[in-house]
Amino acid sequence: MTRPTPMDWEVVMDRLSAFYHRGDWRVPYLREHAEDPFQVLVGTILSQRTRDENTDRASAALFAAYPGPRELAAAPTARVERLIRATGYFHTKARHIRATAREILDRFGGRVPTDRDALLTLPGVGPKTANCVLVFGYGIPAVPVDTHVHRIANRLGIVRTRSPEETEAALVRCVPREYWIPLNPVLVQHGQNLCRPRGPWCDRCPIREYCATGVALADGRRPPRRDDAVAERPRRRRARRKGFRARRTRRRADGRG
Ligand code: SF4
Repeated sequence: MTRPTPMDWEVVMDRLSAFYHRGDWRVPYLREHAEDPFQVLVGTILSQRTRDENTDRASAALFAAYPGPRELAAAPTARVERLIRATGYFHTKARHIRATAREILDRFGGRVPTDRDALLTLPGVGPKTANCVLVFGYGIPAVPVDTHVHRIANRLGIVRTRSPEETEAALVRCVPREYWIPLNPVLVQHGQNLCRPRGPWCDRCPIREYCATGVALADGRRPPRRDDAVAERPRRRRARRKGFRARRTRRRADGRG
């Protein structure tokens, strides 16, 4: 192998979904709550910087006590914090989810908005959470990018980006819209199993031939780095400056500058 096979999304998604036996694209912690956009929203805020098991446990306890925005907005902070403690950062998360519940009541008539920009105005809601609400709460195509999606997209070589926001913008351009909904769950699954942050198991990977990293490692080459493209820019700038200085020195030596 020397070059990755050009990306065929149909094959890639088929192989990954067959490998992980996925028929249900929802991410684990949202399965129980996916019918309710409010619970998807709150569950996704709770999922920030924690493991799925903690999110599962906390969401189940929280929604048993406060299933909707009205109940959560009126809930005592101390009790909410106790219920979601397992997810970490529980003071901040409790503040965000209660404020979000209040804003949904006050500004959106009790209904979670279906508009990304409106979602982004809610406390604790960033691009990934907003996109999760669209995808898992409403079935509207969007590309939620978390750490797994960001890492794998760069390893595959389909993007060269430094932040999840850049990755989202790049994926929206290069992934056909019909794969936006399953993309996050399947890549999260891949990132938690084979394409792990350290030591990806490329020799077992069903999409290795499509992956720039997998192909480079198979050939004994250094895998392309995420910042190769970025590092290239200062190098080119330095070379241009060097050329400019050399020309100026020659002009001065010739008495022209
Ligand atoms: S080949 Fe390796 S780096 Fe590429 S997607 Fe598979 S596990 Fe990840």
